[in-house]
Amino acid sequence: MESLKISNAWIVTQNHKRELIKGDILIEGGKISAVGDITDNADKTIDGTGCAVIPGLINLHTHISMTLMRGIADDVHLDAFLNKTFEVDGRRTREDVRLGTELGTVEMMKGGTTSFLDLYYFQDEMAKATEASGMRGFLGWAVLDEEFTTQKGNPVDNAARFISEHKNKERIYPLPAPQGVYVCNEETYTRTQELAEKENTLTHTHLSETRMEVYEHEKKYGKRPVHWLDDIGFISDRLIAAHCGWVTINEVRALANKGAKVAHCPVSNMKLATGGVAPLPEMFDNGVVVGLGTDGSSSNNGLDMFCEMKTCALLHKAHRWDATVLPAQKVLDMATIDGARALKMDDEIGSIEIGKKADLAIIDLNKANMIPAVRENIISHLVYSCQSNNVRDLLIDGQMTMRNRVLKTLDESDIKERAQAVGQRLIERE
Ligand SMILES: [Zn+2]
Repeated sequence: MESLKISNAWIVTQNHKRELIKGDILIEGGKISAVGDITDNADKTIDGTGCAVIPGLINLHTHISMTLMRGIADDVHLDAFLNKTFEVDGRRTREDVRLGTELGTVEMMKGGTTSFLDLYYFQDEMAKATEASGMRGFLGWAVLDEEFTTQKGNPVDNAARFISEHKNKERIYPLPAPQGVYVCNEETYTRTQELAEKENTLTHTHLSETRMEVYEHEKKYGKRPVHWLDDIGFISDRLIAAHCGWVTINEVRALANKGAKVAHCPVSNMKLATGGVAPLPEMFDNGVVVGLGTDGSSSNNGLDMFCEMKTCALLHKAHRWDATVLPAQKVLDMATIDGARALKMDDEIGSIEIGKKADLAIIDLNKANMIPAVRENIISHLVYSCQSNNVRDLLIDGQMTMRNRVLKTLDESDIKERAQAVGQRLIERE
């Protein structure tokens, strides 16, 4: 693999000192080998003048193949949203799921995202599309009780098969992912946990997303979901729990005690009017690692991590009547190094440091919405001003997957054309 130098850029390192350096980055063998003033020549040099280089963004909760269901059920109550989503979803084929993933990887890479954590079925199809894109995919096979699933066979067994077939693939990290306490019983959660321990994987689940979920569960079992899961051994340092919008301080402490992580999804929560806001300040005070996720395209309706960062900051400021809550630096942490910590990958990705994998996004600061850009405001700009189309280039494992906004690993126009045809078919059939 040829060496590459990115020269004369603002380097948003996200290292432990959160240093912002004006200089160069040298990439050799897919990894960052030097940061700063680099006099050595590389096989290839990319001019970073007028650009910021950031660690590739990490989308910590999504269902990317739902891109084909974008806009199917907007401005309706949650039950109507779910009915419509399940109805369309039930008609999808393996090929549809793969095509939705292809469209999702196009959208994510064009928006500076290099890694994502997904929860869905047919993850074997999604793995093929993810591998073709070059992205780093943490693929959670959806696990439900047999009575609630359309999967053939037992979902935990299906997850086990998926993991054993994909655990040694490059940039594919398979894991089991129970859908939520409303469709997964104690046995399903404990068998999932045993599988994760045997295969040494992460676990991922939706948790305390809606008030109804929490109160129905409490009525049935006498315990709130986090405490119930804790008692049956599912709250662990392997767990990344999506949402946690309706949790008490005692539930936050329970998550913290076991080292569980949270994927916060502000846009999806606000759009579905779930009402509860994940108590981020209390989570941080108790040492819970929190990353950011977009959720699926039917409830967001995009996979844009810049939009997610800005919304995250605004939501918590508005909610707490306090403009100092969630400063830009912390929000950028959530989308980079904290996401990496949640995935237990912080020694490999999430910051620009020597020895780490070169997962990088190069942001063009010379756009109207980013001017004036100076050292003092670059971090703010990344959270409050930056848009996906400001991302000029993208590298994953040192491989240039996008250059001057042209994807190198995928045929963007072909994917868009096929996705338009299939998406139209899915939505228009009543
Ligand atoms: Zn979700």
